[in-house]
Amino acid sequence: MSDVKTIQNLIGGQELDAIAGATIENTSPTRGQVIARIPRSQKADMAAAISAAKTAFRGEWSQWSRLERADLLDAIADKIDAHKDELAKLESLDNGKPIKLALAVDIPRAAANFRFFAGAIRHDKTDCHSMPGAINYTVRKAIGVAGLITPWNLPLYLLTWKIAPALAMGNTVVAKPSELTPMTAARLGQLIHELEIPPGVVNIVHGLGAEAGQALVEHPDVSLISFTGGTVTGRAVAATAAPQFKKLSLELGGKNPTIVFADANFDDAVEGSLRAGFLNQGQICLCGSRILVEESIADRFEAALIAKAKEMKVGDPSNPKTDVGALISTAHREKVESYIELGRKEGGTIACGGNRPDLGDALNSGAYLNPTIITGLGSHCRAATEEIFGPVVSVHRFKDEEEALAMANGVRYGLCASVWTENLSRAHRVSAKLDTGMVWVNTWLLRDLRVPFGGMKESGVGREGGRYSLEFFSESRNICIKL
Ligand code: NAP
Repeated sequence: MSDVKTIQNLIGGQELDAIAGATIENTSPTRGQVIARIPRSQKADMAAAISAAKTAFRGEWSQWSRLERADLLDAIADKIDAHKDELAKLESLDNGKPIKLALAVDIPRAAANFRFFAGAIRHDKTDCHSMPGAINYTVRKAIGVAGLITPWNLPLYLLTWKIAPALAMGNTVVAKPSELTPMTAARLGQLIHELEIPPGVVNIVHGLGAEAGQALVEHPDVSLISFTGGTVTGRAVAATAAPQFKKLSLELGGKNPTIVFADANFDDAVEGSLRAGFLNQGQICLCGSRILVEESIADRFEAALIAKAKEMKVGDPSNPKTDVGALISTAHREKVESYIELGRKEGGTIACGGNRPDLGDALNSGAYLNPTIITGLGSHCRAATEEIFGPVVSVHRFKDEEEALAMANGVRYGLCASVWTENLSRAHRVSAKLDTGMVWVNTWLLRDLRVPFGGMKESGVGREGGRYSLEFFSESRNICIKL
């Protein structure tokens, strides 16, 4: 039991248990073992954190210059780099993701988020509009207390993607990480407080979404909510925040198409589709879970994809050779399995996977599932149109560009798409007609942090990234001076 960590809230610079004393067990999906106890925070805990953030916003923090805030963000990035191995181990244990992924992507990106927004505010500029007899200049000011709510799939990566721009623009924050993955958020809070930062600027409150998360969204002193999570939760968050006219960013679910034309570079398209389908056990909002392939190459493509999926090494996330680790929980695995069963009932063929690997006694109580490919499923079926959020892809065949676009756009979601073709005109034409916030051509998840990130339709409202984040986390004020 000595390995079970006690995680506390970070409120006003202090580490505290929940006021009522209740805790939640945090289980690792790698072996099903309890690894931590976190506070089960309620309204009173959230109110204390929001009050600390409000006091900090009006205090010394408001005197910090942009350059001082940029230096702080760089210092946080340095701390993350210095603790990269520790943070990667925590993330892998807590989430089930392969350690090599946490080391290559999650933790470096968390540091990069802080460095990026440090650079962004150092180089930011204001607008000036002159008119006959007057001049306008526009400044951006901090909003106040920012409420940040993040999911379990990329815990530190997504939390820092919100904390960094919020602090960059001079806000104070109250963050509610997913109760399934609290470890790196808690460690980040400690690392930040090893630096000189006024208490209450960064607060982290753990607990359940329906309790702590809801309390954060409904609190009148929180002026802005940045939420990343599922579409159903996003709708509830919007319903609570909208009547109070809070600034709201919603980054929600996806059912993203990977569209492979016959003129694509075949090997690159297979490799890209595999990566888009199964990275992080298919638990990335951007994952390409619907693969649309032009009929003339479909047999060969499916065979190559299936062969590659079977080669993926499923198992212990702490093994540096593992490609596919554990899903977030055994409960989530059951949900994913129910979709595989649904796909079968809807007429699909489980061409590979669909079952749990036998990894031996120690790991068999973890949440593992083999990469699964469903073929022959109608493109309107539920298993082909609803977000599964696991290592499951369905492959569908199209005759021509028009049919590919109809299939691609024929879902409620509109987050991203990837298009594989060597025909430049087609790449432009198809990209222009896709109802998604982001399109990748001949690649997937290639990120430039300056570009707008976000979705259309039920994938969300608003954009994050670069100046879009800086604008979201601030209010513009125009000053008109008569000359
Ligand atoms: P989720 O269940 O919607 O939860 C997201 C966060 O919201 C968690 O911290 C959750 O807390 C909290 N929450 C739950 N109910 C709440 C409420 N009533 N008020 C306020 N907060 C509440 O999503 P998830 O299962 O963690 O994550 C998977 C989903 O996130 C997928 O749909 C995926 O596509 C989406 N996602 C989207 C993006 C994007 O950028 N578009 C990125 C990553 C993930 P608890 O966990 O404690 O319940």
